[in-house]
Amino acid sequence: MNTSYETIIIGGGVIGNSIAYHLSERYREGVLVIDKKYPLSGTSGSTQAWVWVHNKTPSSYAEFSMYSAELYPYLSRKIGDVEYKRTGGLSPFFNEKDRDKAKRLAESYREIGIKIKVLSREEVIEKEPSINPNVAGATFSKIDGNVNPFRLADMYMRAAKKNGIEYSYYNEVIDIQKKNDQFIVFSKNGEYTCKNVILAGGTWSRELGKMVGVHIPVNQVRGQILVTEPLKPFINYTISGMRQANNGEVLIGYSMEEAGFNRSTTLDVMQETANMAMYYIPDLGKAKVVRAFSGIRAVPEDGLPIIGKVPSVENLYVATMHSGITLSPLVGTLMTELLVDGDTSLSIAPYSIERFK
Ligand SMILES: Cc1cc2nc3c(=O)[nH]c(=O)nc-3n(C[C@H](O)[C@H](O)[C@H](O)COP(=O)(O)OP(=O)(O)OC[C@H]3O[C@@H](n4cnc5c(N)ncnc54)[C@H](O)[C@@H]3O)c2cc1C
Repeated sequence: MNTSYETIIIGGGVIGNSIAYHLSERYREGVLVIDKKYPLSGTSGSTQAWVWVHNKTPSSYAEFSMYSAELYPYLSRKIGDVEYKRTGGLSPFFNEKDRDKAKRLAESYREIGIKIKVLSREEVIEKEPSINPNVAGATFSKIDGNVNPFRLADMYMRAAKKNGIEYSYYNEVIDIQKKNDQFIVFSKNGEYTCKNVILAGGTWSRELGKMVGVHIPVNQVRGQILVTEPLKPFINYTISGMRQANNGEVLIGYSMEEAGFNRSTTLDVMQETANMAMYYIPDLGKAKVVRAFSGIRAVPEDGLPIIGKVPSVENLYVATMHSGITLSPLVGTLMTELLVDGDTSLSIAPYSIERFK
């Protein structure tokens, strides 16, 4: 068994897998992805999976998200069908007073080249006939959409494996030490040495950081999702808190809860979620909910991604964020450039871990 690598990626969610795949396009040997469980056991397997740009603040973060969304069609051509749908995104509002706020959002995005339309009530109903007729308006952006997260992680992994990337599952990393120019990664199944370590542990990033004496300020924010029985296609857009998947199921979720790593679902939140969904789309009142699950978001303290080198430890890198589904194509691309070329084609300075000093 090989135990010496150029690069070890800790975490096999969409972020670790996107980095692995994009790295494999540039060099094919010497990369190992280690995961303590299986590839979709973390947040990537318990997500809404919107590819979302609209409403992100500051506008520079929306711009960063837009570049990633723009990569999706090309990514699908390279790794296979990830069920990416650029449906367009609707954010309805129910009070005329919110129109000015919506116009300000559209204005701030215009400067960075993201087109947001502020729709009248009639325009919203025309686009999304099943919406609550009390709607006052909505912001709308064509760039938004959604993807199948299971296919996304799987297709990244298949393509990476085909290009020679190695994987080790059910192999928890328990310590990382640095000796001279090498890292020693201690895992449940043995020790590995490598030049570069990439921490892509999502919601467990804080714990991984501690192993190398680095503070990674990521908090856990739980979200609960309801899933309906498969319904005839009737929701046209990715719309506040919900999307209709290819198989007809509607995935609905709004909650943001501080519950640590607890992935339970709770009746109160399920009821609130169902009520909210029926407010937006009254016909959902007739649908049966067949499943509920919860996932834990990895949310850095200021809400923005943490991506790039860790300056205090040579050859240590980190990539952790909320909105990792949206951002995975871009993050994989830029992390590869950073490792292979030493620089990125798009600045990641705003996302450096240095900002938390
Ligand atoms: C309810 C909910 C809704 C969401 N909706 C969206 C959305 O609409 N759009 C969007 O873009 N994003 C959304 N997200 C966020 C998105 O799902 C995540 O940002 C993304 O999945 C994170 O991927 P990741 O690879 O960083 O983390 P993960 O998928 O969690 O992967 C991290 C991996 O690291 C492994 N690991 C951790 N510690 C160790 C260790 N010590 N040793 C070995 N392996 C280890 C874990 O086992 C895990 O597999 C949502 C999240 C939630 C919870």
